[in-house]
Amino acid sequence: MSDERKTPEQRAQMTDLERLRHSAAHVMATAILRIWPEAQFAAGPPVENGFYYDVDLPHRISPDDFAQIEAEMKKETKANHTFERVEVSRAEALALAEAGELAALGPRPAASKFKVDIVENIPEDEKITLYRNGEFTDLCAGPHVMRTGNIGAFKLTHVASAYYKGDEKNPQLQRIYGTAFKNRTEMDAYFAMLEEAKKRDHRKLGKELELFTFDDDVGPGLPLWLPRGTAIIEELEKLAKETEFAAGYQRVRTPHIAREQLYLTSGHLPYYAESMFPPMELAEDRLPSLSRPAGFQPAESETDRQDARPPSQAGSLSSDEKHSGRYYLKAMNCPHHHKLFAAVPHSYRDLPLRFAEYGTNYRYEQSGELFGLMRVRCLQMNDAHIYCTEEQFEDEFRAVNDMYLKYFKIFGIEKYVMRFSTHEPAKLGQKFVDNPELWKKTEDMVRGVLQRSGINYIEVPNEAAFYGPKIDVQVWSAIGREFSIATNQVDFAVPERFGLVYKDRDNTDKTPLCIHRAPLGTHERFIGFLIEHYAGNFPLWLAPEQVRILPIGDEAPLIEYARAIQTELRAHEVRAELDASSDHIKAKISAAEQMKVHTMLVIGHRDLEANAVSLREHGKGNLGARPRDEVIAGILSAIKERRG
Ligand SMILES: [Zn+2]
Ligand SMILES: [Zn+2]
Repeated sequence: MSDERKTPEQRAQMTDLERLRHSAAHVMATAILRIWPEAQFAAGPPVENGFYYDVDLPHRISPDDFAQIEAEMKKETKANHTFERVEVSRAEALALAEAGELAALGPRPAASKFKVDIVENIPEDEKITLYRNGEFTDLCAGPHVMRTGNIGAFKLTHVASAYYKGDEKNPQLQRIYGTAFKNRTEMDAYFAMLEEAKKRDHRKLGKELELFTFDDDVGPGLPLWLPRGTAIIEELEKLAKETEFAAGYQRVRTPHIAREQLYLTSGHLPYYAESMFPPMELAEDRLPSLSRPAGFQPAESETDRQDARPPSQAGSLSSDEKHSGRYYLKAMNCPHHHKLFAAVPHSYRDLPLRFAEYGTNYRYEQSGELFGLMRVRCLQMNDAHIYCTEEQFEDEFRAVNDMYLKYFKIFGIEKYVMRFSTHEPAKLGQKFVDNPELWKKTEDMVRGVLQRSGINYIEVPNEAAFYGPKIDVQVWSAIGREFSIATNQVDFAVPERFGLVYKDRDNTDKTPLCIHRAPLGTHERFIGFLIEHYAGNFPLWLAPEQVRILPIGDEAPLIEYARAIQTELRAHEVRAELDASSDHIKAKISAAEQMKVHTMLVIGHRDLEANAVSLREHGKGNLGARPRDEVIAGILSAIKERRG
């Protein structure tokens, strides 16, 4: 199957569509063998949106060959052969592979070399099965659909290359990709969605609408936000800050770097090191008293004075010695927030404590993994950590959920699912923190909240984080493409690692639970999603340029009137611009439409005399002349209410 062999459980969990697509891979192999009988097949799993099969073949398959292969596939689905499952012994499987009969239409002069290798690597205790459709036989653990005719529609999409088992020491193979569906209608809808997605591609629109850019001198995966993109960021932060303030969060700020020790305590090092930027070595930090420049004078400001404390008070040397002098860029905000919790003694009366920060994190993604705003190396997260008692957990978790639902409504997100990952009792102490009661208690509470609030969720056993259950939030854009935007985690292990405690009623020290939550995810990914979701046509409150005023002509009284309207709007913090150029009004409108300016106020002499404006909205066209005050009031209320 795939590079990493699927377990029997994973195979049992394959969806109907995955079975169908994997079955289409067998049909594609059947077709390729009819044209090139010498083809050697390796692995052919279903993948997101389709399937592939890796093949070794002297002929380089190109899209020019697709029609011929698809025609042969069509014959095979029309023949409606049964997918027949046959159990064989290891020796029988090996003999067939040696005779060239696996992933083949019959015996061949050369052995089925990859299948020989695969048979030899099947675990001793696993059954070995073959699947047959017509004259084609493959080594395969399944599962499949009943008959080739169940594959209602299919299409080959592209060719890539891949090393056998993903190892560059192995031969390079041709990876032939395709997709398949139950019927033609579903396939047509899929390709129509892809076409639409291309038009809405956040990288394309981000450039056209001047939202963000990348620069080689700055570095890959490090987005630079232009003023128009920054306007969106500011609006999202405003929304988050208002919402979080109302929900009792407190804002905090933390530095972008930290000593190695912090991440050793949190456990991110060494396990997460690959995803972090390499450390900075600061030799002088290791020996603070020796490295001070000559003539150093204690500085005047409060913040600097701390550095200038005499050595006797500067923290004992032993604490400096335990530090390596290595600093890391912040890859996550949690450890910093934990230190803030620890900075002040807390009693049960202080809880729940909710620390919020739009924290900037740096993660070392492989350059091949970087993708527009979706995979970046610098991300600004709608982060917060809620420290609470076990009794408070349920209410806190429900409030977080309600926040999600509120946001979904504002952004018109109609389809979403929460993937609730739970632990597996058999793996306590290995994959999961060994605290069975707390697992049960928190999972029951999370499940209860999800059920009672009528939220759309699925439960996935055995996929929780090490230190607690988690929820991954997936949303669908307006055109039906899926995005993972956020993860919530319950954490009952890390607060202990940091020694976080509060004084309980009985005056004993207790460890709080911690909820990590980020409903708006990161600016990068969320705005990438919003660009596609809205196709760049942002609602008024979010639009980078909310209003553009377009005088018909450039006579002084008109420009003066237009400027007065602009001044009034800007006094209310509306992002209003004025096109005072001498261009023809048609050209002015077309320029504004091209930048997807939400509202255009066209002003002619008649408007000036009537103290009116001619209202125009992007995508809606001319809405006619209206009194100036009415239009301005309408704009302000739509922004305030964050309407559609
Ligand atoms: Zn198969
Ligand atoms: Zn966190």
